[in-house]
Amino acid sequence: MVNNYYLMNKEKCKQKMREYYQNNKKKIKEGAQKYYNENKEEQKLNQKNNYKANQKSRIVKQRKYYSENREKILSKISDDMKNNRDKYNKKTRDYAKRNPEKIRARFLAKKHIKIPEGQICQICNKSPATDREHRDYNKPLDVKLTCHKCNCKFERLIQ
Ligand SMILES: [Zn+2]
Repeated sequence: MVNNYYLMNKEKCKQKMREYYQNNKKKIKEGAQKYYNENKEEQKLNQKNNYKANQKSRIVKQRKYYSENREKILSKISDDMKNNRDKYNKKTRDYAKRNPEKIRARFLAKKHIKIPEGQICQICNKSPATDREHRDYNKPLDVKLTCHKCNCKFERLIQ
């Protein structure tokens, strides 16, 4: 019955709801804002806990998705970069502004430390070394020569 009434008067109901919203916009918005402010810490904590609790399964899922859709993802990113060059340039600049010591350390390491041919990753001792990994960006020339995978793993650990 209720459903029928709603269906028969759908437009009327919608109109009523719209009117109510328009007339009480301020109140509704304030209410939502108040609720958010009063529960901000709790909500943040919840989000954080959820994020932490699901971290492992999320990473596994992401990796699976990435390995299954690698070509698609990479070509999408490269298209996106071509079409939004300004946005990406700005991103790079912002990153450099936020992390000047990282940029400087990487620049200096690249300039002064050559990776010898045939160098093996100093962490996994398996893959060829391609990266210079900083433990401390204040010591730009103090690096480990690692493969890209180990370097990424380490970056994730310190973030
Ligand atoms: Zn490695």
